[in-house]
Amino acid sequence: MVALACININKVEAHPALLDVYYEDPETATGAWYYLMTDDDSCIHFDGSTIKYAFGNETNNSKWFWTNSYYTEAEVATLKNAVVRSMKKWGDIHIGKIVNGEPVKSRLINFAEGSYDDYNLLILPDQECCTMVAGIMDIPMTRTVIEEYHAHAEKFWMYLMMPVLGQMKDYDDPSEYNVALERVGAHEFGHVLGLLDIDDVEHGDADYDWEHSDKIMGYATYGEYTEYQTFIGFYDFMGAAITRGLHTENDHKWRVEGTKGDLTVLECYLCNGRIDVAQNADGTYGPNNLTAITKRASCTSAQHTYTSSTMEYVGCSSSSDFFKCQHCDYYRMYTHFVGGAYHFGLNGHYQDCNYCGEKIYGEHEYVQEELYYVCTVCNYRTRIRTISTADGETLYAFSDDTSEGIYDYNQAQNYIWDNNNYDITEKIEVLEEISNA
Ligand SMILES: [Zn+2]
Ligand SMILES: [Zn+2]
Ligand SMILES: [Zn+2]
Ligand SMILES: [Zn+2]
Ligand SMILES: [Zn+2]
Ligand SMILES: [Zn+2]
Repeated sequence: MVALACININKVEAHPALLDVYYEDPETATGAWYYLMTDDDSCIHFDGSTIKYAFGNETNNSKWFWTNSYYTEAEVATLKNAVVRSMKKWGDIHIGKIVNGEPVKSRLINFAEGSYDDYNLLILPDQECCTMVAGIMDIPMTRTVIEEYHAHAEKFWMYLMMPVLGQMKDYDDPSEYNVALERVGAHEFGHVLGLLDIDDVEHGDADYDWEHSDKIMGYATYGEYTEYQTFIGFYDFMGAAITRGLHTENDHKWRVEGTKGDLTVLECYLCNGRIDVAQNADGTYGPNNLTAITKRASCTSAQHTYTSSTMEYVGCSSSSDFFKCQHCDYYRMYTHFVGGAYHFGLNGHYQDCNYCGEKIYGEHEYVQEELYYVCTVCNYRTRIRTISTADGETLYAFSDDTSEGIYDYNQAQNYIWDNNNYDITEKIEVLEEISNA
């Protein structure tokens, strides 16, 4: 939920470029993917690369107390952790483009911990709100008007509705509370990125028309809280890609949607925006000689497999790649397609994802063969094993060490120099191995 009234949005004006596209009339656009805030008074977005978040409490304001009749201190800690984990789902998303055959990825946004004196997003408990929403986003103070319908804000307040969340936790179906913990941070943070409540734009308070349950910025039928979305999907992150400047005027991929009088309607299959242009004698469109693919009435399931040339790589998270159909609105996530040769070093091995180039790391799984440790996965052979401690220090163990000692860096160097199993060449090799680890 966001506390603002929405206007019909016909044009997207987003940083850094003006996306000169229009969308279907919101009244009829039941397939709408996202709505962007474009009102220069109340509809704005965060523009920095890293958002600093902090929790407010009663030392900042006497109304901001977390523990209450619903929440113990331990439950508050669980709630705070869940909200942070939920909103950081946005920080796990990279927008991907294929440039000269190679995937180029840009992280949507970074998160860092801030403080009450230095934050962009303050997360607050609200004890009074009686509406059935779990969170409210407020943009209380500073804003910079960039141009008409386009402003940036530095500070956002996310209110968590403690009585509503508390009732879900204590009295309602506990699975509703689990959905709320997974969702509320991610949904509210979508407003920081400039996204509106899709169902609110289309249906206002007619909550039995709420239908965009496939999107984090949508709702589901009122009261059916377990049907609300907890994942950020392609449609959500394309809206954010526009406000983040990662889908610009240069990134549209056009397909022919239909005609309007003498003009051809082109639709970008990545962002859903449209333009009306004349077709040129050479088959291209408009003064910029745009090219466009044809629309397909419907796709077969074979055309939606990851090996189909119809499916285009559009982004990834740490666990998945996103692919979008060029011909229809279908998108899906695939687990990173890990294959090919292993790359390895003392600290572990990795393979590249064949879609996006992401390095997928694994720990060595050693067996001992004579004086070596050998990884059964990648075949890495080494005389040293590294052990990471909880405070980030690296310790070392040696395959020929009958005492099975664990050594710090200086002790490991001494162990190598004094080791009669190694000749001088091996000593230098092993010393290099630990200094490169
Ligand atoms: Zn909302
Ligand atoms: Zn902007
Ligand atoms: Zn586009
Ligand atoms: Zn399709
Ligand atoms: Zn991948
Ligand atoms: Zn390995």
